[in-house]
Amino acid sequence: MPDSLPLFDWPEMLPGWVWLVGAGPGDPGLLTLHGLNALRQADTIVHDALIDARLLDWVAPGAERIAMGKRGGVASPTQAEISARLVGLARAGRRVLRLKGGDPFVFGRGGEEAQALARAGVPFRIVPGISAGIGGLAHAGIPVTHASVNQAVTFVTGHDTEGLAPRLDWGAIARGSPVIVIYMGMRNLAEIAGRLIAAGRDPAEPVAIVASATMPGERVLETTLGTCAAEAEAAGIAAPAIVCVGQAVKLRQALDWQRLVAGRPLRDTDPLGTGEA
Ligand code: SAH
Repeated sequence: MPDSLPLFDWPEMLPGWVWLVGAGPGDPGLLTLHGLNALRQADTIVHDALIDARLLDWVAPGAERIAMGKRGGVASPTQAEISARLVGLARAGRRVLRLKGGDPFVFGRGGEEAQALARAGVPFRIVPGISAGIGGLAHAGIPVTHASVNQAVTFVTGHDTEGLAPRLDWGAIARGSPVIVIYMGMRNLAEIAGRLIAAGRDPAEPVAIVASATMPGERVLETTLGTCAAEAEAAGIAAPAIVCVGQAVKLRQALDWQRLVAGRPLRDTDPLGTGEA
């Protein structure tokens, strides 16, 4: 690690170990210091499809980079193949960094990979990361909790191996969670929105879709539950994208700090009309 940060006992990455590291949503500045420490020491980096290329500029000279991630619609390795590769590299005595987008344990199959290492007797370390559904939204000026709006937030996946997450009780989520954050939601957005409305959510309820959050091509679409699928399609909003449903989305009018960076005024400092400080 940098000499300018000498006060911490940085862990050493030993041969034969796998470190499962969350890379954060994209912006290299949102990687943790433990993540940077891992990037500097690893001789083998096995990374996801979603990893921002700028992060990979930080790997140690001569380190091997292996792109291995699952990507919807594109031929990609199976989870078993990825796990077997990690086990094989560790057994060959490599210092393996498994770099995954966001947090490795949030809709990232990190649990499965760590379990495969555990079963194989390969030692590992887990380094959490900033998840897109929290940090990506914060970067876009949307707080996932806000005292006057919600005391609960639900994180859901918009699809799994069986399609539109069939085991989810969308009605219960619609009734119980003032703010709903949907990962991998673009493919089934019309159906998800339809289910939430059918369960009583207002079609006029604010929705934000944040695509490529914290990356150079970040785009934010502010829309409504009733129109989000059509508007996203018309605007050409593409994955990776996070969908946030709820009144918290309105706060972006006050909290979109990127306007300040660009020298533009905030749109409204009290968008909820609560007058609170
Ligand atoms: N482990 C990751 C999530 C992996 S699932 C995390 O904690 O963030 C992949 C989904 O995450 C994408 O379909 C998208 O919904 C979301 N996602 C990941 N990175 C994103 C980004 N930079 N911008 C918007 N959404 C992102």
